[in-house]
Amino acid sequence: MIELTDPAAMRAWSRARHDEGQSLAFVPTMGYLHAGHLRLIDRALELADGVAISIFVNPLQFAPTDDFARYPRAIERDREAAVGRGVDCLFAPDGAAMYPGDDPAIRVDPGILGAHLCGPHRPGHFMGVLTVVAKLFHIVEPDVAVFGRKDAQQARMVQQMVRDLNFATRVTVAPTVREHDGLALSSRNAYLNREERRAAVALSRGLDAAHRAFAAGERRAARLVTTVRETVETESLLRLQYVEAVDPQWLQPVETVGGETLLALAAFAGTTRLIDNIVLGDGTGADERLPANTV
Ligand code: AMP
Repeated sequence: MIELTDPAAMRAWSRARHDEGQSLAFVPTMGYLHAGHLRLIDRALELADGVAISIFVNPLQFAPTDDFARYPRAIERDREAAVGRGVDCLFAPDGAAMYPGDDPAIRVDPGILGAHLCGPHRPGHFMGVLTVVAKLFHIVEPDVAVFGRKDAQQARMVQQMVRDLNFATRVTVAPTVREHDGLALSSRNAYLNREERRAAVALSRGLDAAHRAFAAGERRAARLVTTVRETVETESLLRLQYVEAVDPQWLQPVETVGGETLLALAAFAGTTRLIDNIVLGDGTGADERLPANTV
């Protein structure tokens, strides 16, 4: 595996691969890799001749009160995991390489896709995400990029960005990987103490309960949202920020679950903000669960 930190060297490597007739898949991450990230890498390996991943904790997407400084980092462990998985290139620039001088004056606006779910609760966050993804796509020039459904709103925005701004990269979305008890894997789970970790499972349990109600015929979005809320509120260590049912294309609230519907939430476990979602009426299959003995 080649490791690069310089954007110009990264682009040169990608172009050399393409000159040899090789296709390239790309998985952008903020590092502290877990089985969810590895799942994206596996999908990337299926989709192209070579795989590049990036590790960059992007300051532009963190508010001043967010956890940028303490976001977990473990580059050596990540390097080993990437090599073990068959990654060809690890791009790990520092902040100065990505943002020489000041923060960028020009940024990518998510528009209506930022109007609901996490958008109103994290002002500027998605603009920071889309801006760094746009930069990474220009630097890496991948044929295809893989994102996780765990961050469904983000993945949807990136899909729309490549359409609206004529990027040459295709975007694929891979299923959410969960712990054996249902908790969605996240680098931020490392912040949870034992009690918070135990309580956090109520988030996926709430979504599961809504899924069961949907399977039993409930189509009123407000009822499904209440089902999630009631489950999560049984845990005093959790504080819900939102639960919303939205259409998966434009992420606008729905009253009735007709076709596919994204049911998404954010909640605090202590000071740690967690997100999760499921797609109701989704014919593409369920999320993936790790076996119980996985560490
Ligand atoms: P992050 O490092 O948290 O910015 O995530 C990098 C990529 O991994 C994003 O596309 C995420 O959606 C994806 N991802 C994070 N957690 C999971 C998970 N539990 N299952 C699948 N993909 C995930």
